[in-house]
Amino acid sequence: MSKIAMSTPLVEMDGDEMTRVIWQMIKDKLITPYVDLKTEYYDLGLVHRNETNDQVTIDSAEATKKYGVAVKCATITPNAARMDEYDLKEMWKSPNGTIRAILDGTVFRAPILVKGITPYIPTWTKPITIARHAYGDVYKNSEMTVPKGSKAELVVTDEKGNETRQSIYDFADSDGIIQGVHNKDKSIASFARACFNYALDTKQSVWFATKDTISKKYDHRFKDIFAEIFENEYKAKFDSAGIEYFYTLIDDAVARVIRSNGGYIWACKNYDGDVMSDMVATAYGSLAMMTSVLVSPDGIYEYEAAHGTVQRHYYKHLKGEETSTNSVATIFAWTGALRKRGELDGNKELSAFADALEKAVIDTIEGGVMTGDLAALSSIENKRKVNTEEFLDEVAKNIVLG
Ligand code: NAP
Ligand code: MG
Repeated sequence: MSKIAMSTPLVEMDGDEMTRVIWQMIKDKLITPYVDLKTEYYDLGLVHRNETNDQVTIDSAEATKKYGVAVKCATITPNAARMDEYDLKEMWKSPNGTIRAILDGTVFRAPILVKGITPYIPTWTKPITIARHAYGDVYKNSEMTVPKGSKAELVVTDEKGNETRQSIYDFADSDGIIQGVHNKDKSIASFARACFNYALDTKQSVWFATKDTISKKYDHRFKDIFAEIFENEYKAKFDSAGIEYFYTLIDDAVARVIRSNGGYIWACKNYDGDVMSDMVATAYGSLAMMTSVLVSPDGIYEYEAAHGTVQRHYYKHLKGEETSTNSVATIFAWTGALRKRGELDGNKELSAFADALEKAVIDTIEGGVMTGDLAALSSIENKRKVNTEEFLDEVAKNIVLG
């Protein structure tokens, strides 16, 4: 059998711990037997990030800009414990944060649905994709405690030094707290375009919600920017794709989401996305079945699993104990990237391979073979819990190429 050729490389970002172990197995068992895999390899494992003073992370993001598609393994974000464990020169920043800043992207998270695992909201028969605006608001705030007897004001100083003041509150009778938050028109516009582009790409409608009735300038700005960009740049394309842009208030959106069947992109302000993505992920079952893709406003894609490096399993693995780590979201990171590469290069065979591999994964689980996390949830009869490697071997057996 001849292998599927690739004309353009994928940017491959290797990572840490259990996901690094799985990464190599996925390539060896599921991809390189079928694809003449071309990648530009960057080792984002913590050891190499430390050796390169984190330059490798920046280089991998620049390469992603150049080639347009990347696939990333989960990576350790260092904390104090990791400083000792890896004898780090510095507490390097989260690679995902660095890459997101360079690509100016929005993260879309969507669950993989399989028969036998019913979401906690059983009517959610299609995935809900959450897009979180990962800039500003309370995540870049400035806050103070205020002693009784103080007056708090907002002060804006323009280029010429003129001040505009507005009262926040007169703390005449009590101590209190205040908070200043901001966002940028530019960032909101990038977020809107990323959502609308991804909607066209995946043929799903976009829902967006804020609290504009209460926040008549701040939240209203989000509403206006989305509406203006949609009308001017996307309305016609949405009409011909048969999808829609729907705006409502955040509390109304939450109620509608619960009643919905899924199958749309839910664009969320930063805090809403933080909170709602955890709720939605939990409701669909397992973090190990959640995919994640970073999409830049100019159409660059970086695929990964939403979960971390599964440290607890890795320490078991190092001790020689058997693990049953779910590789599904990491496999789907690879298939997402290969399919997108195929689309961009007009390489139908490559995209078809990605579809076939995804189908093999779903067929394996729906056929009753799964890792421990899913076995604990699945209602399928005669299910069989397998270890990390056995699962990949079973998937390999189920790959059917057209
Ligand atoms: P985690 O790796 O997501 O794992 C948390 C727990 O969730 C695991 O202990 C496991 O539960 C379960 N789990 C997650 N993925 C699983 C899978 N594929 N198969 C089976 N079970 C799975 O989160 P963490 O332990 O908090 O973080 C570990 C490291 O990952 C940290 O250094 C963090 O910085 C990093 N991280 C990276 C990313 C990223 O690169 N995108 C994202 C998040 C975290 P049980 O132990 O109960 O089996
Ligand atoms: Mg959260």
